Amino acid sequence: MTAVDTRAVHAGRDDLAGLGVHVPPIDLSTTNPLPSVDAGGDAYETLATGGTLPTGASAVYQRLWNPTVARFETALAELEGTAEAVAFASGMAALTATLLAATRDGKRHVVAVRPLYGGTDHVLATGLLGTEVSWARPDQVAAAVRPDTALVIVETPANPTLDLVDIAALATAAGDAPLLVDNTVATPVLQQPARHGAALVLHSATKSIGGHGDVLAGAVACDAGWAARLRQVRAVTGAVLHPLGAYLLHRGLQTLPLRVRAQQAGAEKLAAWLAGHPAVARVHHPSLHDPAGLVGRQLGGTGSLLAFEVRGGAPAAAAVADACRLITHAVSLGGVDTLIQHPASLTHRPVEGDAKPGGGLLRVSVGLEDPEDLRADLAQALSAI
Ligand SMILES: *Cc1c(COP(=O)(O)O)cnc(C)c1O
Repeated sequence: MTAVDTRAVHAGRDDLAGLGVHVPPIDLSTTNPLPSVDAGGDAYETLATGGTLPTGASAVYQRLWNPTVARFETALAELEGTAEAVAFASGMAALTATLLAATRDGKRHVVAVRPLYGGTDHVLATGLLGTEVSWARPDQVAAAVRPDTALVIVETPANPTLDLVDIAALATAAGDAPLLVDNTVATPVLQQPARHGAALVLHSATKSIGGHGDVLAGAVACDAGWAARLRQVRAVTGAVLHPLGAYLLHRGLQTLPLRVRAQQAGAEKLAAWLAGHPAVARVHHPSLHDPAGLVGRQLGGTGSLLAFEVRGGAPAAAAVADACRLITHAVSLGGVDTLIQHPASLTHRPVEGDAKPGGGLLRVSVGLEDPEDLRADLAQALSAI
């Protein structure tokens, strides 16, 4: 198998030479001419039930299928080491489709390992989609799984504390229940959960895959059976990715390995410096905290996301976020510019009780700026405490 850098550049582009082009065309047609009533009907039936079309067949309607989106899906699947991938309008749309696809045959129980992204936590805690959740630590998952468990959900590295979970051990603990790993923070450059036993790999492609803060998108990488079910849900519920977004994500994949490594190098420098700062009580980053030895074994690097706890709690954290100048005070992560945010107030606001991040915690998504400039900005912001 070729290296990830090579695959990132070429994946999902096999048909381009045959089309006589060097970059993927952006196919904006919302509807497609039908060769005949019978052929159109057959194609509709195939697509609306989650199937795929032979080359050259009419795609019927953009909610059912789009070639620009399909190229991005092929590329992501290749990077994740899965047979297929299915793209959605957002990460939360991808999670929603997965919950709808997984909760069948009377199974609606979900086992979830905290911490999770606040939106994921919220959907599960409220049972908005008809699921019933059991929260479990990784070592409690085997006991929490029931005959009606539809899905086990974990995020590693977890957002916002960068906790690492052993995916292979969790897949074993899940038994017959499918394991979903949210791989948004790691990206397929650093971690391919399907190789460790995950049935479903979820991405908020809004983050590192897009990488430039201009596309909202989600995706699930999985086997052909899950992909068919997810496409069926997508076709019916309509949370499709726009082809312009798919084009940008496909282009984003080409520089993903380079961006991830450069941003990670900056994050490691900042994490080490923050760990020695008198105003900082604790720094969360896999370069500093990897009790199970998963970096290198499961996670090919430490990543660009870090968090730190300032002394003085929420008021001190708010003062630091407000005082940043070069670093933008904003939610989201994985982009080329550095962002800082207060999880307890924003991304993890809906999380209940003890599971909510502490008031002094700030999360930093490290971008491509010179780490020295970022350090200088954080230094002046920390002096605001
Ligand atoms: C942002 C995020 C999501 C949700 O994705 P959207 O694209 O915002 O819908 C899910 N999981 C993680 C880890 C995220 O960071």
